Amino acid sequence: MSGDGTACTHAGHHVEAPGAPVHPGPVLSSTFHLGLPADPTPADFYGRADNPTWRGLEAAIGELDGGECVVFASGMAAIAAVLRIAARDGALVLPSDGYYLARALAHDELGPLGVEVRETATTAPLPPLDGVALLLLETPSNPGLDVTDIAAAAAAAHAAGALLGVDNTTATPLGQRPLELGADLVIASDTKALAGHGDVVLGHVSTRDPELLARLREARSRGGAVPGPMEAWLAHRGLATLDLRLARQAQNAAALVPVLRAHPAVTDVRWPGDPDDPAHAVASRQMRRWNGVLRFTLASEAAVGQFLAASRLIGSATSFGGPRSTADRRQRWGDDVAPGLLRFSAGCEDTEDLVADVRAALDAIIH
Ligand code: PLP
Repeated sequence: MSGDGTACTHAGHHVEAPGAPVHPGPVLSSTFHLGLPADPTPADFYGRADNPTWRGLEAAIGELDGGECVVFASGMAAIAAVLRIAARDGALVLPSDGYYLARALAHDELGPLGVEVRETATTAPLPPLDGVALLLLETPSNPGLDVTDIAAAAAAAHAAGALLGVDNTTATPLGQRPLELGADLVIASDTKALAGHGDVVLGHVSTRDPELLARLREARSRGGAVPGPMEAWLAHRGLATLDLRLARQAQNAAALVPVLRAHPAVTDVRWPGDPDDPAHAVASRQMRRWNGVLRFTLASEAAVGQFLAASRLIGSATSFGGPRSTADRRQRWGDDVAPGLLRFSAGCEDTEDLVADVRAALDAIIH
C-alpha cells in the first residue's frame, strides 16, 4: 500500500476517459433514467438506494479501512443500522464510557422492543459474552481516551459467536484499521476528522463480510438515513487532506501535553500518543498514528469559563477533528465526568501560536 498522503489524495479517484472532469461534482439527482421496461435495472435508479457520489466516497473509505464501505447520513445513523441488524440475533454490549447517544439509542429504543443491552467500561476485562450478538467497542473512547485491545476483543467475541464492531471515529482509518485487527464492522462519525472541516454530518460502516455488507445497504435503504450527495462530495474532498491535517493536529497535541501536565490549573491529562499515558502501550501496538484529540480537567465549570474566555484561538464547541482547535465541557452533555473535564480537539493552527494561546488562557484562570 502507498503512504497515507497518496492514499488520501487518490482514494476513490480513478483514471477516467479524456474529457471527464478530474474533480467531478456531486450528482444531485434523486431520479435516474431506467431505460425501457425490458432493460436491466441500473445501479442508480433512485436516490435513496444508491448514488454515484456515494460510491466514490465509499470506494475511498473502503480502501483506507481495508473493507467495503456503506455511507450513512451521520455517525448515529451508522451506529443505529449496526445495532438494529445485530439485535435480531442476541444481546448488545456497548461501552459504558463511549458516545452517550449510542447507549441512549440502545436502551431507550431497542430495549423496550425486548433487546437485551449490557454495558462494559473500555478498560474493564471483557464481560461474559454468552447470548451476545454484538460487542461494540469505542477505542480510543470518547471522551475518556481509554483504549481496548481490539485483537483480544475480536478473539473473545468470535469465540462466543458474537460480532465485534469498533467505533473508529477518534482514530480515523489512518490512525487504526480495526478490520485488520479482527473486527467485523468498523463504524465512524465522519462528521469529525475524516470530512474534517466542520461543515458536514456523515457516517459510515465498513466490513469484509459480504452478507453484512448486503444487510447494511438494505438497512440504509429501508431506514432511509441516507447522506445527501453534497455531503458525500464534501467529505470526499475533505478526505484528501486527512493525512496533512492529522499530522499537524497530532503535532499540536504532542506539544500541548507537557504544557498541560506542567500547569497547576490542570489535572488528569490523557492522550494515547503520550508515552506516559496509561493507554500508550496498547495504543502503540494497534494504532498506526496519533491524532489531535486529548482531554484534561480544570477545577470547575467556572475555571473552564475563564479558560475559554481568555483564549483567542480555542472555540467552545462540541464535535472534534476540525481545522480550528475546540474544547467541549463534556458534563454539559450528561457524560459521567468531572464538571471541569474538557475534551480538547487540537486543530491545524501553528504549534507555537496554539501553545502560547493555551498557556496564556490557563494562566488567566483565577485560583
Ligand atoms: N461516535 C462517536 C465516537 C462520536 O463522537 C459521535 C459524535 O460525536 C458519534 C459516534 C455520532 O456521530 P454523528 O454526530 O455524526 O451522528
